[in-house]
Amino acid sequence: MLTKNDLARYERQILYPDLGEKGQKRLKQSQVVVAGLGGLGCSASLYLTCAGVGHVTLIDCDRVELSNLNRQVLHYEEDIGEKKPFSAAQKLAKLNSSIEVIPVFKKITAQNASKIIKGANLVIDGMDNFKTRFIVNKACVAEGIPFIHGGVHGLFGEVTTILPGRTPCLACIFPEVPQRKVSLPVFGVTPALIAILQVTEAIKLLAGFGSLLTEKMLYFNGDTMDFTFRNLVKNQNCRVCGTKKV
Ligand SMILES: [Zn+2]
Repeated sequence: MLTKNDLARYERQILYPDLGEKGQKRLKQSQVVVAGLGGLGCSASLYLTCAGVGHVTLIDCDRVELSNLNRQVLHYEEDIGEKKPFSAAQKLAKLNSSIEVIPVFKKITAQNASKIIKGANLVIDGMDNFKTRFIVNKACVAEGIPFIHGGVHGLFGEVTTILPGRTPCLACIFPEVPQRKVSLPVFGVTPALIAILQVTEAIKLLAGFGSLLTEKMLYFNGDTMDFTFRNLVKNQNCRVCGTKKV
């Protein structure tokens, strides 16, 4: 049930007819896992918290560094050296004490991924490497949990929503694990923008309205301010979700 405080706090979004009190209740009952508390994960968890998603799990295995602060907006100077999930959870608890924020300081591995995401309504990709993304993608397919992928590089970003069994998974989209240098350039604005698109998808998916960014990748080019799309096709031979596994 929504409390009097809930009705006041979320008044302006409850006014949106497709959400209403019914959708707000669904958000309150939802559990979302934010995998990675970097640029994407900080902004995503901030807006999930604002929106009133009832249970938010934050998972990361890193500690805050000064070089994170240009984009990881939940970590402050005083948090340098602190475990990222705890630094983020502290700020979120001050913003919205009516939701449950669960910090988990752990590295996601092939062994623990399914256990970490079990029971979640969806997983937000806030990761900075494809190796872990593929582990989480595989676990999401196995558990049947939607996975909202986001990625950034400099002023470029991408986002797509994966519904296991129905739409192309990350391994369909990237047959090979993309290789990259250890440190990519990135501005703060790019992960902020992509994370907010991810949360827009999350809100619609959880509350059950609107159309989703499935079977297509949205690309953002901040240099030219172009938003473009690429259609994605499920790979029947996909090593993760294919019906004819190779
Ligand atoms: Zn696949």
